[in-house]
Amino acid sequence: MTTVTAKSAVTTDAVAPAEVRPAAVEVHGVHKWYGAHRVLDGVDLTVRPGEVTVILGPSGSGKSTLLRVINHLEKPEIGYVSVNGEPIGVRRHGDRLRELSERAILAQRSRVGFVFQNFNLFPHLTVLDNVAAAPVATRRLSRPAAQAAARELLGRVGLADKAAAYPRQLSGGQQQRVAIARALALRPGVILFDEPTSALDPELVGEVLAVIKDLATSGTTLVIVTHEVGFAREVADRVVFIDGGRIVEQGPPAEVLDHPRHERTRDFLAKVL
Ligand code: ADP
Ligand code: MG
Repeated sequence: MTTVTAKSAVTTDAVAPAEVRPAAVEVHGVHKWYGAHRVLDGVDLTVRPGEVTVILGPSGSGKSTLLRVINHLEKPEIGYVSVNGEPIGVRRHGDRLRELSERAILAQRSRVGFVFQNFNLFPHLTVLDNVAAAPVATRRLSRPAAQAAARELLGRVGLADKAAAYPRQLSGGQQQRVAIARALALRPGVILFDEPTSALDPELVGEVLAVIKDLATSGTTLVIVTHEVGFAREVADRVVFIDGGRIVEQGPPAEVLDHPRHERTRDFLAKVL
């Protein structure tokens, strides 16, 4: 009996549950202004490893800015962000927060994948090199190793046969799937998606959502801004509703989507559903 208890304690230690591992993303009291316009107004958000968070909110509510702050493409005036327990952009030093060097920021950013609305592929590179470029540039992999890994990732998003094509030869849905493979290439701790299907023709949305769903069910940590409420209901562990730069409410999809507590959430859902 004692032995069994001791053993299970060891096992628990070795594979720490998500609650005791550092958060994949932690946003602490973030405020962001553009001039006099306050875009983020005290945002706190914790994303656990393996968790899928869907962010919903009206246009202009600060969703893209929040993702850009998480990836250090924007710097908050107040507050800070941690990825895998490490603050991005600032470092605790006693009670002060110290700026990180540009190099440290780049190293931390490489642990965050970003998938944009408009794919943002390199037009002059083949599909294979789009996926292999970052691991080579960051010297994580040799060119042959990066290309081998890229082939595997292209297989995962169903595009093994497009390795030699250029982005302009692909449909929007295929380009977005390449962008997802590219985001995976640096084996990031979390992937951020900013409206990944809103630039696509309706018939191409499903193939991209299917790839994202595959990542979600395989335990990848994802933060997804989308207006696809049905998709959110299916894949999200947590839905976060943002309005006016604030998190109005958050919780499991069954709560936020089916029983929203706030008037603003109800109004928004009535418009997008
Ligand atoms: P969302 O993604 O929810 O539509 P954004 O985060 O893009 O919202 O924008 C939030 C607000 O900040 C909007 O009012 C937008 O016009 C403004 N904004 C975003 N980026 C900039 C910028 N670079 N300069 C000035 N204002 C900006
Ligand atoms: Mg946006």
